[in-house]
Amino acid sequence: MAVVGFVGVGRMGGPMASRLLDAGYELCVYDVSAEATKPFAARGAQVAASPAEVASQAEIVLVSLPTPDIVRQVALGGNAGIVNGTKVRLMVDLSTTGPGVAGEVAGQLAERGIGWVDSPVSGGVTGAKAGTLAVMVSCPKKTFDEIEPMMKTFGKLFYAGEKPGMAQTAKLANNLLAAAAMVATSEVMAMGVKAGLDAKVLIDIINASSGRNSATQDKFPRAILPRTFDFGFATGLSYKDVRLCVEEAEAMGVPMVVGGAVREMLAVTRARFGAESDFTHIAKVLEEWAGVEIKG
Ligand code: NAD
Repeated sequence: MAVVGFVGVGRMGGPMASRLLDAGYELCVYDVSAEATKPFAARGAQVAASPAEVASQAEIVLVSLPTPDIVRQVALGGNAGIVNGTKVRLMVDLSTTGPGVAGEVAGQLAERGIGWVDSPVSGGVTGAKAGTLAVMVSCPKKTFDEIEPMMKTFGKLFYAGEKPGMAQTAKLANNLLAAAAMVATSEVMAMGVKAGLDAKVLIDIINASSGRNSATQDKFPRAILPRTFDFGFATGLSYKDVRLCVEEAEAMGVPMVVGGAVREMLAVTRARFGAESDFTHIAKVLEEWAGVEIKG
């Protein structure tokens, strides 16, 4: 099979790139962290010295990177950017970077004859490993048809339209909701435990009732009640997603009252526990305010 390029093999990109290897694709990878590329070298993948080098080996280059600025830099930044690769004809952004950077990078790549796909994903590290992600895709339909077999390696595909940034908008909407669920669930759990309820009993009650959500069904049972706080999504990245969502909404004249509050709770969590902390630390903020531990 043709060589596929992959830039950014971290918590999400690592397992996704690994699934491509499992499916028989040849890979050329790059990451600023040598630790991240080590397992790929061990499995026979090429390890490049820059994004441009990846884009000189592969026609299709996927990226899974932390922030819009880093995606812009990796795509367009000087000689080392993907845009300067000699072979590349398509860049696929699997990161959550918002519609703004999608439109901007797509425009500049198009000037050099390189196509753009924005394809943010949802489902966390577990979904990335299992190939059960929700994969949102916006690009020309013809491009979608071409990449569909490869992208199915990651999970279930949802075609969001031709316009660059449509899939990113869908992803921001989802992530604001997921973060809102974390914040609101942390608040009610802290209250319940302070009142004397057993945390596990309260989670079981909510999960059988109308308040159930992705935090009660997944994040609390998996990473908060057992006190591991290791869901696999950084506070800084969640803050970035919610901030991007609220900013996009503001720019469109759509007020987001709850969205603004969720953004501030993530800012508080980041200030208290750091950008690298797992975003389940939102619950720790509420624990500190309430003077309780949500365990069980
Ligand atoms: P991560 O920090 O674990 O991985 C990012 C990788 O990019 C790291 O290996 C890092 O070394 C590398 N990197 C950083 N700057 C680079 C550069 N200039 N050139 C090359 N590599 C560089 O982050 P993650 O959790 O894997 O998230 C990646 C993207 O996916 C983010 O946009 C995030 O919002 C999104 N996302 C994450 C999750 C999740 O649950 N972790 C779920 C869905 C979407």
